[in-house]
Amino acid sequence: MNIKKIEKFLRDNNLPKFRLGQIQKAIFQDEVNSFSEITTLSKDLREKMEIELKILSFEIEKVLEAKDGQSIKALLRCHSELVSESIVTTRDELSDGILKQVQDDKEGDLIETVLISPKPGTWSACISCQVGCQMGCRFCATGKMGFKRNLTAEEITDQVLFWKQYLRKNKIEGNFSNIVYMGMGEPFNNWEEVSESIKILTDEKIFGFGSRSLSVSTSGIVSGIEKMAMEFPQVNLAISLHFASDEKRSCFMPVNQVDNLESLKNGLKKYFQVTKRKVFLEYIMLDGINDTALDARMLADFIFSVGSTHLLHVNLIRYNTTSEQLVPSSKTRTQNFKNELEKHRVSATIRKSLGDEIKAACGQLAGQS
Ligand code: SAH
Ligand code: SF4
Repeated sequence: MNIKKIEKFLRDNNLPKFRLGQIQKAIFQDEVNSFSEITTLSKDLREKMEIELKILSFEIEKVLEAKDGQSIKALLRCHSELVSESIVTTRDELSDGILKQVQDDKEGDLIETVLISPKPGTWSACISCQVGCQMGCRFCATGKMGFKRNLTAEEITDQVLFWKQYLRKNKIEGNFSNIVYMGMGEPFNNWEEVSESIKILTDEKIFGFGSRSLSVSTSGIVSGIEKMAMEFPQVNLAISLHFASDEKRSCFMPVNQVDNLESLKNGLKKYFQVTKRKVFLEYIMLDGINDTALDARMLADFIFSVGSTHLLHVNLIRYNTTSEQLVPSSKTRTQNFKNELEKHRVSATIRKSLGDEIKAACGQLAGQS
């Protein structure tokens, strides 16, 4: 729900401004599923809102719950009305190709969001910021589907609103501990809407999350890292490093051909100067490709070259199979890799992969169930 739409509705209907607070509270704090539940408003008004406004900017296409109850994935179909708005604003500039794509999308784009319970009683929402992704990382299902469009700040924050409603409606216990931008898309390729969404999520009158409970993950776009340091120094940053040699990283992650390890190192140095906050280096474990003792040493060298080693923490992630050619490292190889890092005094954690069963794990979000 975009607050501006409620404000406009109130203006158009000559309604007093204090109604905004009531409606905002009902939607964001009481998590109502429909305007008809807002009993502080007259019946007529509720009916009018029901016809003219929508609380969520998408339809719920499908929800899949893992048997262990620790992860839930939702497939969402964005409203085509949002697409038609973008037709109005950009019609003059549209080339035939783009127009065709917009028309193809009339039915609405599919996006995915995941709710994960890292420990009982806490929930972490993993949200998407784009339909697809243009970065083309070779191990990632989203990368393989290509790029369709950016999501709006409303579509991004509505994923969190949807999960809040879902927990309440299904009487699922627990609180939100984190919101992570680790679904579909590269946040720094849609910074305008992503930064707006961070403002909405941290606005006390709207979602009211603390900045430190938000995390943005990037494939390593250095200009974005610098922007984040300036604009949101309290929001957590994760970098999908995955390879500590330029040769391998460029091969699997085209971003490295633009922002290589040297520029990432300099970007991180600047980030630490401004924020002095811990950064998480994500590292997927690929059998025989980046999981040898030599790879661990190269990773340690990279970390030492950045300096502020106490502010860098490595998360070793199980590779979720998306391609025939790549194989996840075994538990033993992963443990050996961690031991090697620790020998070099690098702190690392082996991350449990949740949601594999419903294809909700990282890198498996590809807009289809
Ligand atoms: N585009 C951003 C955020 C979304 S991807 C980024 O790349 O950081 C979220 C995380 O999932 C990233 O760390 C990404 O590298 C990782 N990932 C992608 N494909 C994966 C796979 N097949 N298995 C495990 N993790 C994967
Ligand atoms: Fe995009 Fe991240 Fe997937 Fe790379 S890993 S293709 S940046 S979503």
